[in-house]
Formats: sequence, C-alpha cells, structure tokens
Amino acid sequence: SAPLSIVRGAGDAAEQGILMRTGEAFQGYRLATRIVLDKTGTLTEGRPLVQEIEAIEGTEDELLALAAAAEASSEHPLAQAVIKAAFERGAVPPEVESFEAIPGKGVVARIGGGEILVGNPRFLVERGVDLARLAGRIGALEEAGRTVIAVAQDGRALGAVALGDTLRPDAARAVAALRRAGVALILVTGDNERAARRVAAELGIEEVHAGVLPHEKAETVRRLQADGSRVAMVGDGINDAPALMQADVGIAMGGGTDIAIESADIIILSNRLEALPVAREVSRRSYGKML
Ligand code: ADP
Ligand code: MG
Repeated sequence: SAPLSIVRGAGDAAEQGILMRTGEAFQGYRLATRIVLDKTGTLTEGRPLVQEIEAIEGTEDELLALAAAAEASSEHPLAQAVIKAAFERGAVPPEVESFEAIPGKGVVARIGGGEILVGNPRFLVERGVDLARLAGRIGALEEAGRTVIAVAQDGRALGAVALGDTLRPDAARAVAALRRAGVALILVTGDNERAARRVAAELGIEEVHAGVLPHEKAETVRRLQADGSRVAMVGDGINDAPALMQADVGIAMGGGTDIAIESADIIILSNRLEALPVAREVSRRSYGKML
C-alpha cells in the first residue's frame, strides 16, 4: 500500500481542488523542470469577446453577419464569440450551404453560392487572399494583444474581427511562484506571435511558441524532452490532448474539454492556476519524506 505521507499529500492536494490520477503523476510532477502552458483557456479564461470590427467592404454589421453564418456550425470559442456579437447587434446571418472547419486555422463555408473564409490571417493568405489593405490594422491589433480573424469572400478580403480574452486573475501569481521554484516556463499557442508575446511579457514568461498547429503541440513537448528534461504540459483544449499525453506529466484544467481531461494525469478541478505551484509543493513534500 502507499506510504502514509503520499496518501496525506494526495489529501492535501484534493483539498486544493487538485486531482492526482496516479501516484506516478504525483511523483513525476515534482521532478518536472519545464512546464509548457497553453494560452487560450489555460492562462486566459478562454471566453473571447469581439472588441473591434474592421470592414473594408460593406458595413460592420454585414461583415459580422457573414462571419457568424460561416461560424454557425463551429464549436471554437472564437466562433461562439462572433455568433454572440452578431446576435447582440441584431445582425441577421445568411443561409449556409456547406461548412468545413480547419483545426487551428479557421472555417470555409459556402454562402449564397460564394466561398467564405473566416480565420487566421495567415490561413487566408495561404489560400491566396490579399490582405495588404488590412495588414497595418491587423498588426496594430495583434500588437495590442488581440486575436484577429480575417474574412474573405471568393478570395477578396472583406475585413477583420478582433477578439480579446482576459488573463485568469491568478495567472501572474502562479507563474511567479513557479519561476521562484526554478521551473522554466514555455507558452505554446495556436494564436498569433504578437498576442502571445504580449501575454508572455505580462506574465514574465520568456519562451514562446506561437502559431503552433494542433498536431504540432505534442511535437513541441517532444523537442523540450529531447535533452532528458522532464516536461509537464498544462492545457484545456482538444488541441492539447496529444501534448498532454506526450508530456511526462499532463495537467488539465477542470473546465477543459473531456478529451483534455481524459488525457491528463493531474486535473485542476478548481480551475485555479495557483494550484500548479501548490501541487508541486505537495508532491515535493510527500516524496521528500520518503527519501
Ligand atoms: P489556441 O491554441 O489558442 O487554443 P487554435 O489552435 O484553436 O488556438 O486556433 C489557432 C488560431 O486559428 C486562432 O487564433 C484563429 O486565428 C484560428 N482559428 C481556429 N479556428 C477558428 C475558427 N473557428 N474561426 C476563426 N478562426 C479560427
Ligand atoms: Mg486552450
């Protein structure tokens, strides 16, 4: 049976809203020298809101209505935000003929016989859309920490929508405590480089991997393990599941998607990031007594 100190440690953890799924996870976490943190939904609340609309053709409401229609079948938090904003403005989304989601990039929909693209500006450029007229505006919004999605119809840029998400209230404290404990922190996100750097700077995280596609997150973890480092990964999304499995210790936010929770060794039921340094301390104390 498990030594008493470990059992007590697990109890202390549970009190803090931390669920340790296995003894290995509990032990392994204290040995992690690198912790990879997902941005959206992990460091931030994960409930983005539309903050600005930039229409270069038609009105703002028309742009929002078209984007909302294209996003109607998407479960992405950005899609939800666009749909909500359109609804609040009373914009009436047109009928959608077909829809396809491209993970980590955006959506493609057929509306009124035309092809509508909504998503990452890089994705639209990849698809041959010229965003030159929007580039300055997109750059400025990203610099301000916004996630910007662009909208195009039949290859022509119509405008952009800027969204913002808020940091979890204890993100800075959690990051500071982990840094004090000597852990190297790495931010990984599918979002744009400028917004990611902005968040990282605010929190004091030096290493940033932005524009990472869903299938590349696990690869990022693998590269960080290549020198023998033990790596913990903290995430909440479907996108994070493979990286949570790849990590020596996978940690999921309790409010995350089912697949992230199923892929993790430790679950932060309280959704409080401060549980990260606390769990590490509990794990260190429990095992310290045995050595
Ligand atoms: P994260 O790692 O921040 O959770 P994702 O990998 O889900 O982000 O998405 C990365 C980027 O791809 C988003 O910032 C956005 O630009 C674009 N994107 C993905 N899905 C959508 C969508 N449904 N609508 C608009 N943009 C999207
Ligand atoms: Mg996320």
